[in-house]
Amino acid sequence: MLAASDLAELIAFRHALHRQPEVSGHEAQTARAVLAFTADSQPDDRLTDLGGHGVALVYRGTTPGPTVLIRSELDALPIAELSDVPHRSQIPGTGHLCGHDGHSTILAGLARLLGRQRPASGRVVLLFQPAEEDGSGAAAVLADPRFAQITPDYAFALHNLPGLPLGHVVLEQGPANCASVGLKLALTGKTSHAAEPHKGISPAQALAQLIPGLMALGQGGALTPEFRMVTLTHAQMGAPAFGISPGHAEIWATLRTLTDAGMAALRAEALTLAQQIATAQGLTLDHSWHDDFAACTNDPVATGLFRAALMAEDIPLIAGDMPLRASEDFGRFGAAAHAAMAYFGAGEHTPALHNPDYDFPDALIAPGIRAFHRLIHTLLG
Ligand SMILES: [Zn+2]
Ligand SMILES: [Zn+2]
Repeated sequence: MLAASDLAELIAFRHALHRQPEVSGHEAQTARAVLAFTADSQPDDRLTDLGGHGVALVYRGTTPGPTVLIRSELDALPIAELSDVPHRSQIPGTGHLCGHDGHSTILAGLARLLGRQRPASGRVVLLFQPAEEDGSGAAAVLADPRFAQITPDYAFALHNLPGLPLGHVVLEQGPANCASVGLKLALTGKTSHAAEPHKGISPAQALAQLIPGLMALGQGGALTPEFRMVTLTHAQMGAPAFGISPGHAEIWATLRTLTDAGMAALRAEALTLAQQIATAQGLTLDHSWHDDFAACTNDPVATGLFRAALMAEDIPLIAGDMPLRASEDFGRFGAAAHAAMAYFGAGEHTPALHNPDYDFPDALIAPGIRAFHRLIHTLLG
């Protein structure tokens, strides 16, 4: 088990990561910091630049057995941190405001334990994944040809969650996080003089119809399998001028559903609506998809094992408001392995995730390590 001196070093490591946050796709220095901190543990294999700046450390047992993957995230957010803590961000406009510094510290602690004692059988893969926040990282790691070397039988992760009592855990089988995707629509007509709008093609009417039309496709509500929500996030038309009738407009929306099948249907309906409106107005429509998150579902086998490990470690399990509307790209690992993600309470009266003053509670580092270490021991001996 970890000594008090280990824990002090891990907390210092978390604070060092927190001071130097890097946004999705730019986690080169964070990946180097992880490699340096875990070098002592002498992993049997080490994959770097996996799906971007991802790092996978592999620890082998002596007899055959399953591969157990534990995932954390390397990336921070393009949000300025507003905080007085001594370890606040030193990078302008960038902050570790989702607690990924804490998750990666928990994996660094596991590396230390595995460095002292390998599992009896099988393999442990500690995956420090890049680019979670924009939904691209898990897919890129899975698409990397070298992922075949570490294909897991089981995959586990945790996320801290403000609003839940500190150290209490929510873990249910079934849907955990919604699918979501960003849709950019661009409407192009023809610019003209404001006195002669009939000599151009303005997107104004189309925009006026698309705003309520898209919102009507998904009005939110209860998180049943039919749940769908469309959030308009950005709109822009023409130039800021009084003498011009515009010839171009853009509208962005985030589509959200509980299931991947529901997302396929909502995507098709949103595009059909936009195409119908654009065609009726004589406009050209272009579209693109962004920040594509699959739904995240907890498999019953992995959930049962994870719950048993938490109970064995006397970590309190509580009922929570699941699934979450927010998305989480860990869901992609569910296609490759028995996968489950637990939510560790960060305290009832802390700022929310992505708030400018959020800071991962160091008190979650030790229980996070204990829970995963117990899981590894249960599965691999
Ligand atoms: Zn986040
Ligand atoms: Zn996060």
